[in-house]
Amino acid sequence: MNIDMKTKETFVKNLLNWYSKNKRDFSWRNKTNPFHILVAEIMLQKTDAKKVSEVYDKFIERHPTPQDLASAELSELKKELAILGIHKRAERMKKLAEKIILEYGGEVPSEKEELLKLPGVGEYISNAVLCFAFGENVPIVDTNVIRLIERVFGVKSSKSRPRTDRKIWEFAAELVPKGKCREYNQALLDFAASVCTSKNPLSGICPEKMICCFAKEKSA
Ligand code: SF4
Repeated sequence: MNIDMKTKETFVKNLLNWYSKNKRDFSWRNKTNPFHILVAEIMLQKTDAKKVSEVYDKFIERHPTPQDLASAELSELKKELAILGIHKRAERMKKLAEKIILEYGGEVPSEKEELLKLPGVGEYISNAVLCFAFGENVPIVDTNVIRLIERVFGVKSSKSRPRTDRKIWEFAAELVPKGKCREYNQALLDFAASVCTSKNPLSGICPEKMICCFAKEKSA
């Protein structure tokens, strides 16, 4: 994916500028405790952030450590997470906490290969933990982020499941501004969810419209 550096830098600058005025404030965004970040990311899987915000603070208050979560009754966890749907999530959370205690001395590991061994943790969640908890300059790529990248830069994944496309991940990694990974990745998520939406993107008011391939094609 051969995109010039200036376009990439402009994209990042516009995005961070937009984010400084439009940031969505969720409590997990102010945390760097790896376990609390991990819990948030598991909750956020296929779930609207506003819904997660209804249960997250209370859940963390009740189960602030892997030990607290592992010793909780599964039936209680299911009740606490019921609003999020996907009942298996309570079970997965408990197993996750047990594994962290048994194999990592109660601390969430900070190495990618170890994070990937945790139940329910894949490429996205492992990078989210590395970025939001440990401050590593790594990308996070979900369906919304892929849509945004494809539109702005005119790239297209050839994979039937673009989320697994190494080329997209590598390109996304090139965009991450060093030392600003937290705000950049949060900005990407918010921007893709509220401006560059799947249907009817708000191109008319979009700060990226001057460099966006999709917008240029539409107005040609
Ligand atoms: S100009 Fe439109 S398509 Fe391009 S990034 Fe902005 S909202 Fe998305």
